[in-house]
Amino acid sequence: MESNWFDFSVRLGTPGLRLLLSCRDARNDRQPLAEHREALGRELGFSRGNLAVPHQVHGRRVDWADEGRIYPQTDGLLTANPGPVLTLQVADCPPVYLYHAPSRTRGLVHAGWRGIAGGVLEATADRLRDRDIEPRQVTALIGPAIGPECYEVGPEVAAQFDTRFLTASPGGSYRLDLPGVVRFRLEEAGIQAENIAVTGICTKCDPRCHSYRRDGQRAGRMVAFFYEQG
Ligand SMILES: [Zn+2]
Repeated sequence: MESNWFDFSVRLGTPGLRLLLSCRDARNDRQPLAEHREALGRELGFSRGNLAVPHQVHGRRVDWADEGRIYPQTDGLLTANPGPVLTLQVADCPPVYLYHAPSRTRGLVHAGWRGIAGGVLEATADRLRDRDIEPRQVTALIGPAIGPECYEVGPEVAAQFDTRFLTASPGGSYRLDLPGVVRFRLEEAGIQAENIAVTGICTKCDPRCHSYRRDGQRAGRMVAFFYEQG
């Protein structure tokens, strides 16, 4: 069975880049995620050794990934090497695809509320500057995420974010505009507003997506792949 894919390859404006996200897939329910990711990779022509895989912990750590392997306890990977295929697993948190054309640096970052509050997007900018890459030259795509109408959070989560991204709901909860927060924090980290694109796809509303908020513990994960066409 072939998978269906979201294909955002044209969104960063550089030919040869492949920005993919696997759609909701019933095999997720029966297959461990690592096997599912490898099966998706094989469909694209890659073996396990090609895949750079972050073991995500909702933290702020971002690593340079110069080869295909597992990167422990990290929520974002960057590479200027055309070889490794960057991957990321998501259900409601947006994958953020980043590209710096002069150095052909790709990045893929897990931008959930915990990571954002912890500074994962600022850490991404710091890692780029470690290699003399200026964020203002970077383009970004904010992938599918739970949308501002659908993301109910409690007051302790809401307290982490500026009120402009919050709408009070009855009963003392709030709705959080997660893509809006991601865009704002990317801009704060130095990426130009005109270089940031957003898919606008809500994972809870769109049946092509896995959504933790819609499906709970049994929700599968979508897998993002970001690579250069060989
Ligand atoms: Zn929605």
